[in-house]
Amino acid sequence: MAKLDHKVAIVTGGGSGIGKAIAEIFAQEGAYVHIVDLNADTAQSVVDGIIATGGTAKLHTCNVAEQADVLRVVESIGRVDILVNNAGIAHVGNLEKCSSADFERVFNVNVKGAYNALFAVVPVMKANGGGAILNLASIASVVGISDRFAYSMSKGAVYAMSMSIARDYIADNIRSNSISPARVHTPFVDGFIAKNYPGQEEEMFEKLSKSQPIGRMAKPEEIAKLALFLCSDDAGFITGNDYPIDGGFIKL
Ligand code: NAD
Repeated sequence: MAKLDHKVAIVTGGGSGIGKAIAEIFAQEGAYVHIVDLNADTAQSVVDGIIATGGTAKLHTCNVAEQADVLRVVESIGRVDILVNNAGIAHVGNLEKCSSADFERVFNVNVKGAYNALFAVVPVMKANGGGAILNLASIASVVGISDRFAYSMSKGAVYAMSMSIARDYIADNIRSNSISPARVHTPFVDGFIAKNYPGQEEEMFEKLSKSQPIGRMAKPEEIAKLALFLCSDDAGFITGNDYPIDGGFIKL
């Protein structure tokens, strides 16, 4: 039996990077995957890829920052066993470079988006006897990262949100955990390098890789394997925790 047979899973931001890898491994393990993503083109290609390899998946084009849209999507899905709050955006800059608009943009997606999904899904899980929630925090939520003021704050909020849900809904058989990756090689990172270091892409990629104690970035699939474990019944005794997956970044 596959690890997620008969489970219904929502993966926000499942159209790219870490979310894509999570959606794919969940589908391989038997889950019916609902991808909730703003970018219909890339997300539809992930859905098509899953279906082409024998899995089941559906796209819901939706901005997680818009509560009414998220509620509508979750209502249309019905039962939800697993929620992965993965959609996220970055902002480069310290406090002085973080305008009020930057702050709102990052918090609207990373924090309000996660809240919106939880607000819509938790009552459904409660009514169905439980579920598993996984929130994408970051090493930024544990140690902060230079020049990522708004992003680090937002991920700190995700970390705390995840713990709070774990505490409040443990009696409802809802588990909530978070993952804190260091740098993962996704379009998120490629876009950051292209935007901020035009013409120096290879050099910067190398520099960012070497800045991690293990000497490389994580692959999205490595994050997805941990996500699969934490959202499966194998992790039935695990809740209220954060899991750094960081190539030694925090402790070495
Ligand atoms: P990515 O940019 O490759 O993918 C993010 C996906 O989220 C995209 O498909 C995008 O369309 C979607 N998205 C963005 N805003 C949205 C919105 N408002 N509504 C719905 N969908 C939206 O990013 P990634 O690198 O795979 O990162 C995924 C998550 O992991 C993010 O929360 C990020 O903060 C976190 N993370 C990433 C890294 C890294 O190094 N890549 C490290 C730590 C944590």
